Amino acid sequence: MTRPAQARLDLAALRHNLGVARALAPNSRVMAVVKANGYGHGALVVAQQLAPLADALAVACIEEAVALREAGIAVPILLLQGVFEAAELPLVAELDLWLSITNAQQLAWLEEASLARPLQCWLKLDTGMHRLGVAPAEAAALYRRLRSTPQALPEPVLCTHFAAADDLASDQTREQIALFEQLTAPLPAPRSAANSAGVLAWPEAHYDWVRPGYMLYGNSPMAGAHPNARALRPVMTLQSAVTGLREVAAGAVVGYGATWTATRPSRIATVSVGYGDGYPRHAPSGTPVVVKGRRAALAGRVSMDMITVDVTDLPDVRLGDRVVLWGEGLSVDEVARHVGTIGYELTTRMPARAPRIVATP
Ligand SMILES: *Cc1c(COP(=O)(O)O)cnc(C)c1O
Repeated sequence: MTRPAQARLDLAALRHNLGVARALAPNSRVMAVVKANGYGHGALVVAQQLAPLADALAVACIEEAVALREAGIAVPILLLQGVFEAAELPLVAELDLWLSITNAQQLAWLEEASLARPLQCWLKLDTGMHRLGVAPAEAAALYRRLRSTPQALPEPVLCTHFAAADDLASDQTREQIALFEQLTAPLPAPRSAANSAGVLAWPEAHYDWVRPGYMLYGNSPMAGAHPNARALRPVMTLQSAVTGLREVAAGAVVGYGATWTATRPSRIATVSVGYGDGYPRHAPSGTPVVVKGRRAALAGRVSMDMITVDVTDLPDVRLGDRVVLWGEGLSVDEVARHVGTIGYELTTRMPARAPRIVATP
């Protein structure tokens, strides 16, 4: 007997979504972002699929890159935040990783390092997100220093990151693009700006490299529906099965804290999946789930290993019926809206406990 809670992975969808990014940015090289355990899908399985199709991969830190190199992933891998201390640099060179330079300190570490080979660097410019990157006033000087460092290959990429590209009504992306254009115009270097939202909705910002992450997993970062997101197919389906069924009287309460009260005689299905499997505990009653292909609503608090669902309107539900929490037929973004978060957080927080099953190779 195996517990039915599983995160099923459609790897054909993953490859398809990379193709969607490529088709939207046909003149750009594609860096596939696989940080945070491949957004919770499993970094290695994702990297093995995407490495042959992408021009490079990107991760958040050297530990993530080491795991990929040890598994035989040989394509270029960018460290998106660069290094956190100078002592990492020899390993960056040994593993032939690409290095982000996000501030003057990281540049000084590189200048002072003694490395087996010069590194391909990405100089990050802060065009308005104010999280990482060198200030506009310092950009040209740091670029010149980077170009003259023997520890760096002669042609660094100039990059920036968008804060609000998911929101077409905001002016911030237009302002960021204008500043990026102004800063990079006098500097002869390849450029990169677009995350998934940039790939989907800001073709003027595709430049030489796009850096999609979230969209590769089949989900849309856009605040509203966007036509370019329609072709995406979800990679992860979190699913389980009905493992309990009961009739409760009007006025009965369900679950921890008695937060849900039946307003009519009701049928409650218990499903073996909970916050221990990555289903968010904060999902409120009313959050949609799909039971045997039809919508039903969460009723009562999410437990560690179980949830309860109101299936009063689905009288033919039986023990063993399949339940989809997100993925096929119910996007993780829709679930996330009910929970007050974004789909990124839901997939990324998936624990090791829910087995990742490759459903479509
Ligand atoms: C995570 C990340 C991306 C990918 O962002 P998505 O919204 O997942 O597409 C791109 N660039 C940088 C610098 C990142 O940190």
